[in-house]
Amino acid sequence: MSSPSEQGSRGARPLVDSFGRIIRKVRISVTERCNFRCVYCMPVAPEWFERERVLRYEEIARVVRILASMGVSKVKLTGGEPLMRRDVERLISMMAGIPGVDTISMTTNGFFLEEKARALRGAGLQAVTVSLPSLDAARFRAITGVDALDRVLRGIDAAISAGLSPVKVNSTIVRGLNEDEAPRLAEFAREKGIFVRFIEFMPFDGKGSWRMDRVVSWREIYESLRGKFDLVPLPRERGSTSMNYAFRGSAGGVGFIASITSPFCEDCERIRLTADGRIVPCMFSPKEFDLRSALRGGAPDEEIERLIREAVAAKDGGVKYMIRSGNLPAVIRPMYTLGG
Ligand code: SAM
Ligand code: SF4
Repeated sequence: MSSPSEQGSRGARPLVDSFGRIIRKVRISVTERCNFRCVYCMPVAPEWFERERVLRYEEIARVVRILASMGVSKVKLTGGEPLMRRDVERLISMMAGIPGVDTISMTTNGFFLEEKARALRGAGLQAVTVSLPSLDAARFRAITGVDALDRVLRGIDAAISAGLSPVKVNSTIVRGLNEDEAPRLAEFAREKGIFVRFIEFMPFDGKGSWRMDRVVSWREIYESLRGKFDLVPLPRERGSTSMNYAFRGSAGGVGFIASITSPFCEDCERIRLTADGRIVPCMFSPKEFDLRSALRGGAPDEEIERLIREAVAAKDGGVKYMIRSGNLPAVIRPMYTLGG
């Protein structure tokens, strides 16, 4: 039996920001550490948090329980590399038992997926997204710093065999790095019967190499696919980050996460919890709210709930408004500390 403080205040008011957007999803970074060094994500010399600063599973589960009581039903685990965190299955099974949590998914680089897929599924993970920036072994290595393309491909197959669903592939596309990969990746998705989603390069590379002219727009990628694939537009789900197209006549399809050239900030339903316990209401804004001090200072659930509401009330309109107002900060935080 859980104690009243572990249960959270069930049935609380929904989480609504000052633009009227209802928050239903949380992305939780379980660690900022990673075994890869993707050029678009990691600075040359990443700095890891002191271990003591990283939230324990019990602390994360408590936050999720309180969020769930306010209507947050979808949890995505990310990182750094979430499968680098020891025994992450334990966290997944803790979250799977929380009333109100209906989807638990993960974004991973796929390196440990082959050995972990079954256990993750058994613990209650439903869906997985595997990042795959290239299907060429040498280029994969040049982008990620690790010679692991085959291993990641086996991880994708293991996820499908384990019954994780949906299994998706995400590919961050950067000009001069991999902008010619899209047709090959789309063909791969069609063969596997899954979705591949192309992500526009965002200014979170941690080394200041982001420039607008390195962003390959979703339009450009779409045009490179149009003649080769019969793509059927799908209705966009509320709060979805991507515009999706199905392959006519076969399973799977392609999606575009156009965070720079066509972001969907109007119906964003997401907040983020960093590995060291900060709530980040919008990844394009420097605002963040420290939950860890409250969690460790003996704050009751009502206080944690109040802090979360404060963070959500401060959520910015989104990148669109920042670009329009000329307020887009050059580098806010590197992606590995944010969770993508
Ligand atoms: N390590 C896991 C992985 O790679 O899937 C989870 C964390 S990673 C930060 C999440 C996603 O962010 C990955 O798909 C990665 O390609 C993407 N990403 C990282 N840096 C990015 C950037 N600067 N712009 C766009 N996407 C980025
Ligand atoms: Fe690691 Fe994912 Fe960042 Fe690559 S994108 S360095 S795999 S956290």
